[in-house]
Amino acid sequence: MTSKEKTWTWRDIPVGAVVEEPGNASEYLTGGWRSERPVFTPDHCVQCGLCYVYCPDAAIVMTREGYPDIRLDYCKGCGICARECFMSTFGLSCFEMVDEEEFR
Ligand code: SF4
Ligand code: SF4
Repeated sequence: MTSKEKTWTWRDIPVGAVVEEPGNASEYLTGGWRSERPVFTPDHCVQCGLCYVYCPDAAIVMTREGYPDIRLDYCKGCGICARECFMSTFGLSCFEMVDEEEFR
């Protein structure tokens, strides 16, 4: 039996590796890739915004009060925010990376 794919011509092959609609990254919820979750504690936060700047996934937004708020739908759990937090210089990072299994 011939599979459907075998009957395709080049005109039928879906377009790949092309962003057809600029700005559509927000439609892709990548938080499901995470194995660790950054947990924020405000006790030592100096509201510098470095975590916001360093997050490679733009998963951190700053609240009106000046604190980071993590959008878990997009956070991939890389841990950069925990490492680059200004307070980590003093061994007091405001983020702790916690095994994602603990939230299930
Ligand atoms: S763990 Fe990585 S992706 Fe998630 S908020 Fe921190 S820097 Fe961004
Ligand atoms: S880098 Fe650390 S101290 Fe600065 S805003 Fe983010 S959590 Fe707060």
